This record gives sequence, structure tokens and C-alpha cells, in this order.
Amino acid sequence: MRRRNVKHAHERILEQEQIGLIITKPEQYKGLWQKLFNNDNPIYIEIGMGKGKFITELARRNPNINYLGMEKYESVLIQAPKKINEGEVLNNLHFICADAEHLLDMFEKDEIKKIYLNFSDPWPKHRHEKRRLTSSNFLDKYNQISKGEIEFKTDNRGLFEFSLISFNQNNYDFLDLSLDLHTREEDIVTTEYEDRFSSMGNPIYFIKVKKHERN
Ligand code: SAH
Repeated sequence: MRRRNVKHAHERILEQEQIGLIITKPEQYKGLWQKLFNNDNPIYIEIGMGKGKFITELARRNPNINYLGMEKYESVLIQAPKKINEGEVLNNLHFICADAEHLLDMFEKDEIKKIYLNFSDPWPKHRHEKRRLTSSNFLDKYNQISKGEIEFKTDNRGLFEFSLISFNQNNYDFLDLSLDLHTREEDIVTTEYEDRFSSMGNPIYFIKVKKHERN
């Protein structure tokens, strides 16, 4: 995600924290997220949400699911509240400013019911493999905080192939796959990157996986 030099991003994040939309100290909610939402509905998270278009639209469409959007850069995350329309109230949505490296400090075992990864940074150099959000490094963490499905979209063929191998090696079952998602006759909720890359003619790769349950 291109980072503009957003003026006073930190101050603006703190303002949004006051009204409860942005959570700047997510470790304080470990094991308590359900209480924050004040209901028993499942919690879904997008990791690396960028400017938040996708997760905000999901929250709008599915009031009975709780959503968290996680983004590590303040200057990117501060754009997300703008996706909420004036006067619109989305009690089922919060944004978290954090690095997914620290997921285990923020979530209790099985606290999350579904994970979305959209257009994650490809980190093409081999020596940066561990930074890819579909590397074994991260899949181990996801498996601790969630036994649910992971949905992954990208236009990057290299990252897609790496991810297929990584999910397979880590005992995930493949529930769905598309090599050109937008040819489907479905009402697809898109991300900022997805809109940009698909308008350039790039196919969107998609998989849905779930960790294989042992007998
Ligand atoms: N999902 C959005 C943005 C994709 S760009 C979209 O599809 O439009 C990838 C985003 O992931 C960037 O904003 C980047 O800052 C964020 N990101 C990358 N690694 C991350 C990590 N370890 N933890 C949290 N966010 C991360």
C-alpha cells in the first residue's frame, strides 16, 4: 500500500480511538473482544486491510457478524474511517493498528472465526519469505487464534503459487479456488487493490482453505 505522508496521522488515530472505532492497544482486548462487541456473534478479521473498503462493506452487509480490520501503518489505517458514510453507524466494526507478527498477544485461542487476506505484500525475495502473510510463520499463528476458514485473494501469481504450497504443506484443506474470480456470477465485495488490478485486466486468484481437522 502506497503510504502518503499523511499529516498528523497519529493525532487523528487518537481522535478515532476516543470514539472507539480505532483500537490502538489491541493487547488490552486479548480474550475480551466479544465483550467489546457486546454480543455473541462471530468475529472475522482482515489482516493487512489497507484503507478498509472491503471490511467496511462486509460490516455494512452483515450486521450479525463482527469485523476487525488490521493494518500496520497508521498513515494507511487513518484512511479507513472515511469509508463509513456520514450518519452511518457500524457497531460491528473496529480497526486495529498493529502488525500481524503480534497476533498471539492480541487474541486468545479460537477467538477469531474467519480470516481474510487480500492482496498481501508479495515479498518476492526468497530471504523475505517469512514476511509473507501466508508463510508457515503466520499460518502457525492463525491456527492458534482461529480454527475457521481463511480466504485469500491476490493478483500476484508468484505469491498465489507460494500460498497454495504453504497451505498444502501446513495441512489445510482447499474448500474453493478460482484462477479468475471475477468471471463468477457473484456479487463480490472487492478491495481497493482488487479494483485497481482487475481494471488493468489482471485475473484475480482466490482460495478458501480450512485447517484439516485431525481425528
Ligand atoms: N487489503 C487491501 C490492502 C492490500 S496492500 C487491499 O486489498 O486493497 C497490503 C497491506 O497489508 C498494506 O497496507 C500493508 O501495510 C499491510 N500489511 C502488510 N504486512 C502486514 C502485517 N504484518 N500486519 C498488518 N498489516 C500488514
